[in-house]
Amino acid sequence: MAFKQSIPGQKHCRRCHARAQLRVHDIENTNMVELRLDCPKCKLSKFVKLTTQKFLDLDKKEKKYLKLLHNATTGSQRNKILKRLEVIRRDKLVAEVQP
Ligand SMILES: [Zn+2]
Repeated sequence: MAFKQSIPGQKHCRRCHARAQLRVHDIENTNMVELRLDCPKCKLSKFVKLTTQKFLDLDKKEKKYLKLLHNATTGSQRNKILKRLEVIRRDKLVAEVQP
């Protein structure tokens, strides 16, 4: 099972306490992906969660809009962004369980 991407954020390995990376692994013949915490030192690969690529994409999008929201200066800008976020969050709930 090859990993496709690393997602930002590092955690420490439970076994050897080295820095481990959260990675996305494709599951063959499905649209689901596994998030695993991979340790480069002791090779521990700990299952974190089962989800879909779509969910991860939406998650990325959500983070982008949160940043925009943070930088928004006017009320109307904020309202527009908040509406987008609402839609993204609703889509995420669905995407989490079905591709
Ligand atoms: Zn380790």
